[in-house]
Amino acid sequence: MFFLALGLVTLVTGSLPGSQNAARAEIAVTSVRTGVHNDMTRLVFDLSANVKYNIFTLDKPYRVVIDLPELVWQVPPQATKPVGLILGWRYGQFAPGTSRVVIDVAAPVAVRKVLMLAPQGRFGHRFAVDLGKIDRASFLGALRQRAGRAKPARPAAKPPPPKRRVAGGRKVVVLDPGHGGVDPGTIGVTGVYEKNVTLAIARELKRRLEKSGRLRVVMTRSRDVFVRLRRRVDRGRRAHGDLFVSLHADAIKNRKVRGASVYTLSENSSDKEAAALAAKENKADIIAGLDLGSEDQEVTNILISLVQRETMNLSATFANLLLPEIKKRARLLKNSHRFAGFAVLKAPDVPSVLVELGYLSNRHDERLLTSPRRRRALVEALAAGIERYFAKRRS
Ligand SMILES: [Zn+2]
Repeated sequence: MFFLALGLVTLVTGSLPGSQNAARAEIAVTSVRTGVHNDMTRLVFDLSANVKYNIFTLDKPYRVVIDLPELVWQVPPQATKPVGLILGWRYGQFAPGTSRVVIDVAAPVAVRKVLMLAPQGRFGHRFAVDLGKIDRASFLGALRQRAGRAKPARPAAKPPPPKRRVAGGRKVVVLDPGHGGVDPGTIGVTGVYEKNVTLAIARELKRRLEKSGRLRVVMTRSRDVFVRLRRRVDRGRRAHGDLFVSLHADAIKNRKVRGASVYTLSENSSDKEAAALAAKENKADIIAGLDLGSEDQEVTNILISLVQRETMNLSATFANLLLPEIKKRARLLKNSHRFAGFAVLKAPDVPSVLVELGYLSNRHDERLLTSPRRRRALVEALAAGIERYFAKRRS
């Protein structure tokens, strides 16, 4: 019996890698071509097989979204340069099994032609889209038509239940690696993606925090996938988080600026730059090609309740403990604790801060943030700040 069971275990574990392989995307985008033909802007993907697609346009801002099965992208970042009506575009995982392409366009457009072409001559499988400019009224007409065909929206998910604490349980730290999937975040001087930096640092920080055995760490995402802002907040609350730390890296025009900074939620921004930063980070859902419609305002509107006041005080306490730890070990921006209306910090009952780890627009910061060895001091500083916060709460 024992041997039989052992054999079974071997069989089960032996079959796992195989099934994971089968689930992995196998169709590749091998190259992308863009061009302007007459008044048409054309985008062509070369693929290793033909695929099913779903293409639609969105308003505010003007976008074209293409949903495809999960694909392997063998496309250099510079392929996404502006051309014709296309201001820029991006691709990545949107949800498990779905790759998404989001194209920002300069004007209201119509999808004039979509072709999935079979191999011919020197060409392999191709997916081609022609975009043409139309007037705003026709654009809105097309949106209404699609809305009429669409299935009725699912009712909004119920808000998460109020927090129930387990007495004596380990404290829960929620790490939120910014961006992911189709939303790359900021792109650094040498082409580094913010989404990869935030995920790598979150993983290192998780490992570091769990060493002591005193804290439990939950991540809002643990791979390169898009997670909308509201879901990040919900995940933190459902995990009964005691602290929520959103990790980001910024970029600005002035390439000399470097250093980390810490942000907490506020109705009124501490300064113009903080307000602009919050507006930029709050756009993640739009960048990923979501139609926010009436939600739009809900995301950016920060209504602060009494419960939230207490939470905000704790957020500020944590920010004030974290800053000296960063200063001791890494580089801090001059004006390092600021406030603004970040949607991801909105949980009314989980103290939340957003850390901009540095500037990917600065060569030194970019190098620091992409090297596991160089960024160790920063990870150590974040861990020390988090541990000090919980040590203070215990005493
Ligand atoms: Zn960010």
